[in-house]
Amino acid sequence: MHRLDRLSTELGIDLWIKRDDLTGFAGGGNKGRKLEFLIAEALQEGVDAIVCQGAAQSNFVRQLGAACAMFGIECHAALMPLPYYAGAGPTAALDSGENGNLVLDRLFGVIVHTFPNDTWDVLESNAEAVAAELRRNGKKVKLIAIGGSSALGALSFELAGQEVDATQVAFDVVVSPSSSGSTHAGLAYHFAGSSTHVIGISADPDPDDVLATDIVELCAELDQLLGRSKRIERRHIDLRMEYCGDAYGVPSPEGNAAIELFARREGIVLDPVYTGKAAAGLLDLARRGEIGGTVLFWHTGGLPTLFAVSPFPISADRS
Ligand SMILES: *Cc1c(COP(=O)(O)O)cnc(C)c1O
Repeated sequence: MHRLDRLSTELGIDLWIKRDDLTGFAGGGNKGRKLEFLIAEALQEGVDAIVCQGAAQSNFVRQLGAACAMFGIECHAALMPLPYYAGAGPTAALDSGENGNLVLDRLFGVIVHTFPNDTWDVLESNAEAVAAELRRNGKKVKLIAIGGSSALGALSFELAGQEVDATQVAFDVVVSPSSSGSTHAGLAYHFAGSSTHVIGISADPDPDDVLATDIVELCAELDQLLGRSKRIERRHIDLRMEYCGDAYGVPSPEGNAAIELFARREGIVLDPVYTGKAAAGLLDLARRGEIGGTVLFWHTGGLPTLFAVSPFPISADRS
């Protein structure tokens, strides 16, 4: 974690960054924290194969693939290219080719099962079908939730919150991207009742408030797992929906501008699916004076996705 001096001056706040892009495992990112627990669980259960699911450029699948390689577990991924092209023009979309995270998935030996674009629910039943087929072939299989968002995944971010406490910097606000929910859930759970307010920036339009419901549910599971009674409710979860752009995975102009600003002020690389949009939210909230004081931006990683945007719009004006 370190301070962002130039952006702090520019925004008139005391801005810090938590570098989960540098967690150090298989290209970095927030999923390394969750996998520490998810793989331990898989090893305890003695599974032969793990089946996961995601969009083609999933960062979770990449890091899971590497973790499975380390422990000799077969890794299957049910992937779909969408919703990358929903409502997006050709220059705004992620490329659906064999690039970015997919290159690394193949490198780590992930067995990719590609399905047509559909809803997340349909993708989940496709992953279940992959798992069922493997079981019919006699394998002991573990089906892992999208993004690794189980109670154990959230636990890893409750612990990440403890890391922040240990630095003894008193944060007024923590801003993090939110998508499958366990990053936000763990942080919201950890800081609940403290003077630090957690804001999640959604990467998905999610008109039915499914994400917030999942986050509340994960917090309830943390209560159970840890034997506590924080009793987090929907009203305690600050989830902002207005920075996700057209769709999940479709880069937004504001997100792209934030990526450029972080690169050109601080030499830090954000990604077009999560952290760029979350940074766009942070910038907007700071400029409008809705957040201020000492602010922590949680950089969750995602670098490989930048190499799946074709082409990434970069401005020649360097001011
Ligand atoms: C998965 C991911 C997120 C979202 O985290 P969740 O725990 O799934 O909400 C944010 N940023 C990056 C780079 C990710 O890969």
